[in-house]
Amino acid sequence: MKNRILLTILIFPMLFLNACGQSKTKENKAEKTITMKNAINKPENPYYSNTDTEKLNLSDEEWKKVLSSDLYAVARLADTERAFTGTMWKDETKGTYYCAACGFKLFESNQKFVSSCGWPSFFEQDNKNSIIFKPDNSYGMQRTEALCGRCNSHLGHLFDDGPEPTGKRYCMNAISLDFVPYNITNENSNLETIVLGGGCYWCVEAIYEKLEGVKTVVSGFAGGTVENPTYQQVCTGTTGAAEVVEITYDKSVLNLDEIFEVFFTVHDPTTLNRQGADVGTQYRSVIFYNNDQQKKAAESIINELNNQKVYPSKIVTSLEPLKKFYKAEDYHQNYFNNNKEQSYCRLVIQPKIEKFEKVFKDRLKK
Ligand code: FE
Repeated sequence: MKNRILLTILIFPMLFLNACGQSKTKENKAEKTITMKNAINKPENPYYSNTDTEKLNLSDEEWKKVLSSDLYAVARLADTERAFTGTMWKDETKGTYYCAACGFKLFESNQKFVSSCGWPSFFEQDNKNSIIFKPDNSYGMQRTEALCGRCNSHLGHLFDDGPEPTGKRYCMNAISLDFVPYNITNENSNLETIVLGGGCYWCVEAIYEKLEGVKTVVSGFAGGTVENPTYQQVCTGTTGAAEVVEITYDKSVLNLDEIFEVFFTVHDPTTLNRQGADVGTQYRSVIFYNNDQQKKAAESIINELNNQKVYPSKIVTSLEPLKKFYKAEDYHQNYFNNNKEQSYCRLVIQPKIEKFEKVFKDRLKK
């Protein structure tokens, strides 16, 4: 693998992303292999399973025995919990959401958004079987009830006032959802995240979005001293934060070496605090590692590239432990895809994506 990486980078060393221009003013692989055992254990509920997809039809009596009274009231009697109950409505931790009554997988965190309504809100369901719908004319309103696709438990309602790309808002009761963060499921599932900075995140995000095995790419900031910095603050170059992308990928499809291979091909790792015309520590070449294994893999490829003299000068990419990743403002997400007609995207990002697609043509999403 290492030799292949060197070969790709040697042959195509300068597919670099240059100036972003922004400083002036500036999914999906449907096939999922569920290999993990139950992520959640509920000994009082023998029907609960995070892997079983077969329909579950239980009598009310049986449900009463296996659910808490609060969950029973919502899941089986379509009760609604108070808005702003708990913190799930505003939580942005990465992970997976399951039906609290039966364990069926309903959503991934990248389908969630923070809605002011005070209930956990999603714009999309995990897959077409996750959630089913029924007209609900109760309380003199015409609404669409959302129910678990496996066990028919009430989850909440579906509204048409959600964000793009679907315009839907799945308004859920928090008590109806179980949440398992990725770093806990990692042992059993194959998802891992890494945070990389290679200059302008619009470009880096657009490229990794196309790579097979990448589940989500989020543009944001990491490093520095300011908590939850704004784009404008980062632009000043005084926060110490860098423009980065957080890549969540499936380890069974894509490995870290391949991610680094793309990284060292699409940006210039030899210019200190600079990519093309974008100058400042916010544009530094940086790998924010989550664990020792990521750190060692990064050190190893950097040493190898230096030893082989792949670049005319030494690599200056910094390795920094990830303390916290802050998501950038919404308009920076999917910037290229949402602004394809904008001249910068057409003239600067598009040609780079086309080159990337040529070099990595056998590793693109179908
Ligand atoms: Fe269910």
